[in-house]
Amino acid sequence: MREHDLSLQAYAKVNLGLDVVRRLDNGYHEVKMIMQTVDIADTLYFKKIMSGIQVTVEGEFIKDGIVPADENNLIYKAAKQMFETYQIKGGVAIHLVKRIPVAAGMAGGSTDAAATYRGLNQLFEVGASVDELEKLAVKVGADVPYCISGGTALSEGIGEILTTLPDAPQCVLLVAKPDISVSTKYVYENLNLPSIKSHPDIDGMVQAIKAKDADGVWMRMANVLETVTVKAYPIIEKIKSEMMSDGAIKSLMSGSGPTVFGVYHTEAQAREALGAIVEKGLAKQVYVTKFVNPAEE
Ligand code: ATP
Repeated sequence: MREHDLSLQAYAKVNLGLDVVRRLDNGYHEVKMIMQTVDIADTLYFKKIMSGIQVTVEGEFIKDGIVPADENNLIYKAAKQMFETYQIKGGVAIHLVKRIPVAAGMAGGSTDAAATYRGLNQLFEVGASVDELEKLAVKVGADVPYCISGGTALSEGIGEILTTLPDAPQCVLLVAKPDISVSTKYVYENLNLPSIKSHPDIDGMVQAIKAKDADGVWMRMANVLETVTVKAYPIIEKIKSEMMSDGAIKSLMSGSGPTVFGVYHTEAQAREALGAIVEKGLAKQVYVTKFVNPAEE
């Protein structure tokens, strides 16, 4: 959208650690996750209009209809909530340029929703605090409150209890999304918590991040949801192994998957792994990237 009043970047995340503590009576899960923003982003263009909420979508990897351009888009849900909560006059057209892999475990929809809260807050001079926006955001999705500020954070409860951490150690990151879509709902419904003997050491990872102990962070990278998604989709294990044999310090599935990321010392190693993954047909959506903290951009 060339003509716009405001544009914002909406960054993706990976989970350096993801644990599920317990299943709550309401069907939600209590989680304990280390969230990290990565330098892959959608762009949202905002334009004030007379009335209503319009959402349009474009993107290279979007298959027909996979990202809804109607009231099912999380952008629409967040915008509607902002208009109602703050009784905003007028309307907005929001154009989304999608680059973050969809249904991938990278909070693509959540970060778009988070950018919508920030964007409308700014555009219509609402004056809501980050705290207020985070409280609204949890109603749209568990990862949305985190996505409002991003960076490195501990996320607890159902995602609404956030503790900002110092930036995680820097590394070269390889992100690979195989050509399958995974439903977050399916993964949580099939998680057999009582059978899981060893849980990710999230507290240890928090300490390692605070101590700037890079090896301490990498050695604790773990995701309890791999027990479900890797079993259902063996390609994830193949990508993880390929990354390790191409020099990764560690490789892990992000969120409920199927995206896999590998942590490398050098860009040359990450690029070599990227080549191997594409050549073997394991994934087409592959990126060499890095951690970012949007507050410092
Ligand atoms: P999370 O890591 O938060 O679970 P995800 O990466 O697994 O997110 P999304 O990319 O958010 O998943 O997409 C999940 C589904 O949500 C999509 O299949 C799509 O139908 C719907 N959706 C709604 N709004 C959006 C949006 N703005 N971007 C992408 N998907 C959206």
